[in-house]
Amino acid sequence: MQQKMILPGAYIGVLGGGQLGSMFLNEARRMGYKIAVLDPDPNSPAGRIADKHIQAEYTDKKALAELSQLCAAITTEFENVPAETLHFLSAQIEVSPPPQAVAIAQDRILEKNFMCQNDLAVVPYAVIEKKQDIRLATEKITGKGILKLARFGYDGKGQILLSTVTEQSVYDAFVSLGEKPCVLEQQIVLDKEVSIVAACSKQGEIALYAIAENRHSDGILDYTQIPANVNIVIQQQIEEKATHLIRALQYHGVLAIEFFIDQEEQIYINEIAPRPHNSGHYTLDACVTSQFEQQIRTLCHLGLGDTTTLTPVVMVNLLGDLWHHSKAPDWQVLLAQGNVVLHLYGKEEARPGRKMGHFCCLGADPHLLISQAKDLKQKLVGVDNHQGGVTTI
Ligand code: ATP
Ligand code: MG
Repeated sequence: MQQKMILPGAYIGVLGGGQLGSMFLNEARRMGYKIAVLDPDPNSPAGRIADKHIQAEYTDKKALAELSQLCAAITTEFENVPAETLHFLSAQIEVSPPPQAVAIAQDRILEKNFMCQNDLAVVPYAVIEKKQDIRLATEKITGKGILKLARFGYDGKGQILLSTVTEQSVYDAFVSLGEKPCVLEQQIVLDKEVSIVAACSKQGEIALYAIAENRHSDGILDYTQIPANVNIVIQQQIEEKATHLIRALQYHGVLAIEFFIDQEEQIYINEIAPRPHNSGHYTLDACVTSQFEQQIRTLCHLGLGDTTTLTPVVMVNLLGDLWHHSKAPDWQVLLAQGNVVLHLYGKEEARPGRKMGHFCCLGADPHLLISQAKDLKQKLVGVDNHQGGVTTI
């Protein structure tokens, strides 16, 4: 059944006030919506510029009731909102993405089980919930491994690389992660990492963006290039897997899926994010419809936007490592370029590894864009600013 459109002028609620929330807010505002942000942080990037900032914990029932009374629909900008919060809200108001999909995405154990139940390949893994599970896990996973916290990890946080999986090395890593439920993954040799962002309506329509090729450094996304350097067979397999996954999850909203491709061209799903994704930020500058506009469109039943990419693009993350003694990098390096778009998230404190902004290089020749992006990033790092941990592309 066609749902009634929620039109400009209405209040839309967002759980979380980070940069994804503020990019969503800017797009929603451009389209004439009003935005209420619920975030406990008084200085969150989206909270500061929202039409209404409800400063409260995500479990605060009074604040959630206030949000649902004000708004016509509610979405989330991060997956760690307690699943109970989304269930509580969805009893009263339109909520997208669906709470059961968020519950799966926020827990690596549920996520991997879900993939296996739906014949979607993931790298070999074993679940470790308590010390007694370690022995069995080390019988399954040998050689190089990664121990990952099942919940609340991001940007490679909550992960420990193991150069050799032994009972002792896993035990030590498990203890240092606080003895919380984990998955032990086989560390595979990656040929490529790619991701795909999808917009999914409540009626079951799906619009896929182009496949993005991602380079990570120290577990954090460094840069994304579009088009990805993948052949048509891989492209079709990824699109089929994405569509199958979305249907199996009964998903609506924006979903990002991260894939690993190994040297034998085997494709594995790494993880999913029930929201716009860092590797989809380029859509703001290079596509007919951005991933954030799709979030509004799917939430408000407007019909899906066109996902066409208008031009090749390279997106580079700007991490806090580039700020030396709190001094911002020399933005003139980027601003002097006519084909470069700069996005800064307005975060006050620059910490190593913290995502402070990104820039996009747009143009006809993908090879030139890559070398321009590398060159500009190198100039921002600068000689004086160089310090350990800065990622270079
Ligand atoms: P993000 O929030 O950036 O998506 P995350 O904390 O959820 O990161 P993952 O996506 O699990 O972490 O891993 C981060 C990166 O570490 C991956 O993109 C990949 O580069 C590398 N990595 C993770 N797991 C594996 C693996 N099993 N084999 C090889 N490399 C891996
Ligand atoms: Mg990831």
